[in-house]
Amino acid sequence: ATPTALMVGTGRGAQLGLLIRGPEVLESTRRVDTVVLDKTGTVTTGRMTVTEVVPADGSDTAEVLRLAGALEDASEHPVARAIATAAREAGTLPAVEGFANSEGLGVQGTVDGHAVVVGRPRLLADWSVPVPDQLAYAVTSAQQRGATAVVVAWDGVARGVIAVADTVKDSSAEAIRELRSLGLHPILLTGDNEDAAREIAAQVGIDEVIADVLPQEKVDVVKRLQAQGKTVAMVGDGVNDAAALAQADLGLAMGTGSDVAIEASDLTLVRGDLRAAPDAIRLARRTLGIIK
Ligand code: ADP
Ligand code: MG
Repeated sequence: ATPTALMVGTGRGAQLGLLIRGPEVLESTRRVDTVVLDKTGTVTTGRMTVTEVVPADGSDTAEVLRLAGALEDASEHPVARAIATAAREAGTLPAVEGFANSEGLGVQGTVDGHAVVVGRPRLLADWSVPVPDQLAYAVTSAQQRGATAVVVAWDGVARGVIAVADTVKDSSAEAIRELRSLGLHPILLTGDNEDAAREIAAQVGIDEVIADVLPQEKVDVVKRLQAQGKTVAMVGDGVNDAAALAQADLGLAMGTGSDVAIEASDLTLVRGDLRAAPDAIRLARRTLGIIK
């Protein structure tokens, strides 16, 4: 393509809410055949709210929320924001000591003299905290409704389950439909559990789901697809998406997401509207298609 055509292409991109890193990006945009989409904050709004607090037998609902909320107040994760907000609405939060974050798993620290852990059942297993059947059931049923469920434990005992839920963006289903009509194959990629991921995928019309992926493994998923001969676009918003965004043939960041994700990407969807992704593909095909 001529430099002029490419300049026109990137200029048109700006009108569509697309920030394109450089004219050469349009070439990789045109070749994409597979689109990997992060779930939380990309396909969904990322604004999670607490939908349910289930105490273990003998535990107190308010205390489960209070200690979990105090701990999560130190975390930036959407799950953490939801829990901390709900807890703060119910009362004042105690201070936290020795806060630590296990990325993609959960958090731990000392609250009111208790060693508190909040996270996926897998994190509890790492701490050798057994999850009783009653709570395991609460986790599974919340997940089947598309929610994310975390277990709250302190002093080595599981005390309850908190379910947080997110809603899909109004524009996501249409964006997926458009991507398909352009001949692209969408895949939902998430650190969240399989049941919740499948429920969200069904709501937006995605058939292929890769779930339970640790943040550092997202990049491996992209590499594996590339090794299969796919030309991969990755769409994400989080710090944990950055490596995968950089690895992908085309990285698309949500403008509403983290700076780290934006810096790692080739293209920014300024308004955080997923429909800008098919817009980008069409623009690239049009800009380069005519001249090639
Ligand atoms: P995603 O790919 O959906 O953005 P992450 O990889 O960041 O998800 O997190 C995966 C899962 O780890 C979350 O769904 C949640 O169950 C758990 N998790 C991560 N951070 C926290 C936290 N601060 N508190 C509780 N659970 C967490
Ligand atoms: Mg995300």
